[in-house]
Amino acid sequence: MTRSSVSDEQIGRLHRRTDDMIRRVIEGTISFESTMDVMQAIIEGKHEPAPKSAVSRMKVCAVFSGNRCTICGSYFADGDSICGCGHEIGASYF
Ligand SMILES: [Zn+2]
Repeated sequence: MTRSSVSDEQIGRLHRRTDDMIRRVIEGTISFESTMDVMQAIIEGKHEPAPKSAVSRMKVCAVFSGNRCTICGSYFADGDSICGCGHEIGASYF
C-alpha cells in the first residue's frame, strides 16, 4: 500500500469539508459552477489561497478620525491596536 503523507484524521477532516461543500451546493448557498471550477483548480494544484472576489471584499483595519476603526467605527482605546469590537490594526476582515 502506498504510504500517505496525511493522517487518517486529516483525511476525515477532508471528507467532512467536502461533505459540507456538497451540502452547500445542494442548498444553493454556493454555486455549482464556481465550486466545480475551484475544485478543478485545486486538483491541478493551481488554486490560489483565496479567490480574487473574496480578497476584494476584504477590508484592512485602520484608524480614521484619530481613533476609530474603519471596519466597524468603534473607538480604539488610547495606545491600543485593537478596537472595541476586536479588530486589529493592519489585519484584514470580510
Ligand atoms: Zn472594529
